[in-house]
Amino acid sequence: MPRISVSLVAGLASLLLGELLDSQDTDRTAQIRHALDGGTAQNILLFFGDGMGDSEITAARNYQVGAGGRLAMDTLPFSGTYTTYAIQEQTPTLPEYVTDSAASATAWATGAKTSNGRISTTALTDRDLKTILELAQEREYRTGNVTTAELTDATPAVLGAHVASRSCQGPDDMAMCPQDRREAGGRGSIAEQLVAHRIDVLLGGGANRFAQPMANGSSVRDLARTAGYRIAISANELALVQSMPVLGLFAPGNMNVEWAGDEALPYPSNVKSPQVCREGVRPAKEPSLEAMTIKALALLDRGTEGEAGFFLQVEGASIDKQSHAANPCSQIGELIAFDRAIRVGIDFAVRHPRTLLIVTGDHGQTGQIVPMPTDTDHPIGLISALQTKEGATMVLSYATNVYHRPQDHTGTQVRIGAMGPQAANVVGVIDQTDVFRILSRALEGRSSKSTSAGAR
Ligand SMILES: [Zn+2]
Repeated sequence: MPRISVSLVAGLASLLLGELLDSQDTDRTAQIRHALDGGTAQNILLFFGDGMGDSEITAARNYQVGAGGRLAMDTLPFSGTYTTYAIQEQTPTLPEYVTDSAASATAWATGAKTSNGRISTTALTDRDLKTILELAQEREYRTGNVTTAELTDATPAVLGAHVASRSCQGPDDMAMCPQDRREAGGRGSIAEQLVAHRIDVLLGGGANRFAQPMANGSSVRDLARTAGYRIAISANELALVQSMPVLGLFAPGNMNVEWAGDEALPYPSNVKSPQVCREGVRPAKEPSLEAMTIKALALLDRGTEGEAGFFLQVEGASIDKQSHAANPCSQIGELIAFDRAIRVGIDFAVRHPRTLLIVTGDHGQTGQIVPMPTDTDHPIGLISALQTKEGATMVLSYATNVYHRPQDHTGTQVRIGAMGPQAANVVGVIDQTDVFRILSRALEGRSSKSTSAGAR
């Protein structure tokens, strides 16, 4: 068999396994040339790891598959890095070097920078910014929004809501957004807006926000039911869902984490006895992110070529929340669970080549992999030693805030990887706002229901 055919067959076989690129000992030029596709996408699949910077990925890889191993997200044919800064509310011409998830998500979802805390609205002037999900709906794509956080949390919120503050999650939470109240002529809380957008698949936590009463006395859940939503509150109920729209509310607040362990402490912490993480602690009632992704894909996939397909966002939210808590095991467990969901997405994209799949994080987080500390030389923050599965000790340091206060984000650039149509545009150094433009180009130029809805 000529060499080219062998490599093509091997390439296809490895594609089916989700191993998109061979290791460095082969010349990848032909594979990358084969992966180049400047066209439009029938399906768009976005995976956002909240707080998933390079050191979070590296720590999870070291722990789970070893320093020389590869996660599913590591196998994408194209990767680059993007800048994540926000802008200042009072002086929008100046950067805010460390972004939060709201400004970060607004950037990729709308193509415009905003200030920390804002949900698809402009800094200072408070104008609505049109989102990529709204654009996808106009082009008749089905839409889905999946998260392990509350559905009203920043990342899922930016796609289908416009409010001045990320805190305005339910009708009772509107103190920071008086102008957005429905009684004041606004669009209402994030929960109300997500339902009003008629996003086909909404899966995550945050049941308490949707239970809050609106001005007319009925709850956001009631609003969803009236709008035709089927509501699922457990993994079993989700498994039975066969139709859209569906609203899955699997926890009162954020969904539970997958792994547990001890939080990091000041030196000497546990350096003499590294911990092994306890896995499988998520309650069975709550579906995994992987299960939610499988269900969302099954519902959203039209299965027909030549039609606008779907736009789906999947967020692994608690990588960030557990980094804030300086809990290395839960942080790593959430990243591994997120990677399992990505594996499902990659397998889908391999079977449906007109799928643009993007994997990235929204900002850096506090954790650093540091050398073994000693009495004379050790980080001044919190540390934790972990026994990795390959049998070595890895020490993580958390030092972006004082002990007993939440650790904080960092302003570093973040990795972005992709496959499918337009994926080559993530190569090199780009900015978060470029993701909106990449996605816009990927959306097929289908009949637009409306060309003027919303602000830019
Ligand atoms: Zn955070």
